[in-house]
Amino acid sequence: MSTTPKIGVLALQGDFDAHRRRLEELGAQVVLVKKPEQLDEIDGLVIPGGESGTFLKLLGPAGFEKLKQFVRLKPTFGTCAGAILLASEVENPPQAGLGALNIRVRRNAYGRQIDSSIREGKLVRDLDGRLNVSPLEMVFIRAPKISHLGEEVEVLATEGNDPVVVRQGSALAATFHPELSDDPRIHQLFLNLIQNGKKQVRP
Ligand code: GLN
Repeated sequence: MSTTPKIGVLALQGDFDAHRRRLEELGAQVVLVKKPEQLDEIDGLVIPGGESGTFLKLLGPAGFEKLKQFVRLKPTFGTCAGAILLASEVENPPQAGLGALNIRVRRNAYGRQIDSSIREGKLVRDLDGRLNVSPLEMVFIRAPKISHLGEEVEVLATEGNDPVVVRQGSALAATFHPELSDDPRIHQLFLNLIQNGKKQVRP
């Protein structure tokens, strides 16, 4: 038996609507999260791309703290600027991170000449978490790079030598924009993460 998960998409700024559409196509119930209180009503959250510094400003210290509590407890998926927010350490320039993923990220790491690009990377695990390499289109826009990975962080996709989709517990991050490609696998992976978390029996 599976219930329809209620997923929030942080809608302060950035390309939240493409995430909403993709999640709805995959059968999720989606709410656009504009106020911190809405975090109490959802099973998981997507933090979209945009400008991570602007997200921090719009959240303010209280919103940031509330979000920090949320990402400790509930599945969260950050793309690009969202991935930057989930990191434990941010450079170029340094800024606060929510610390859901033990990674260091370098903002705007591809340089100005290649502001954005569509590349073919590799998904290294299938949707059930089994090792199975397959090609995946990746849209990078002023993207960060993961410059350090903690031991507990699992790499789910790579581009060249770089890890570009990583997971730690129920926190998932992609340095590119899966919502801008037709391939729904990364969002499905996030929904599976939520469903699997629900199946866990807690005393
Ligand atoms: N360059 C942005 C940042 O540093 C991220 C870009 C994006 O989300 N597409 O926050």
